[in-house]
Amino acid sequence: MRKMLFNSVIRVPLTEPAPPVDDAALAELAASVERTARRRLGRSLSIREVDAGSCNGCELEIHALNNAFYDLERFGIRFVASPRHADVLLVTGPVTKNMREALTRTYAATPDPKWVVAVGDCAIDGGVFAGSYAVEGGVSSILPVDLRIRGCPPRPEQLLRGLLALLQMSARSQ
Ligand code: SF4
Repeated sequence: MRKMLFNSVIRVPLTEPAPPVDDAALAELAASVERTARRRLGRSLSIREVDAGSCNGCELEIHALNNAFYDLERFGIRFVASPRHADVLLVTGPVTKNMREALTRTYAATPDPKWVVAVGDCAIDGGVFAGSYAVEGGVSSILPVDLRIRGCPPRPEQLLRGLLALLQMSARSQ
């Protein structure tokens, strides 16, 4: 036991080092999302995450937006518990047949104006689950999708860039 504890102290971690993140660029990106949301909505952005059958890899990256490192709430961007308080639905997963109704109900409960973002390859076209008897094959087969963010899973910076692009796109189409 002592040997095992000793080895665990001196061994290098087996996990890959985290990719470097430019904190200033990240802060600028998140602040741009916040500014654009205030211009477009008159307030900060509220996001509801919907797991429509993902492997949870995409959720880990989405949750990272709220951790102490990214801390999106400092820019006023927040995740909400109810679709009734949301502006954006971030949907992950290939939409399993079991989640279809829950997803359509969540969409119906979200007030206008609302946007749907398909997060990850599975949400875009089924990804690694494409062709399975148990899935619908992507969010756009069920709901109108405003933005697709590719990746398996997409990184938090990609999610932020996607949200910014979405808000800018909607502001231009007004
Ligand atoms: S895109 Fe990749 S990480 Fe995201 S739910 Fe699908 S398999 Fe998992």
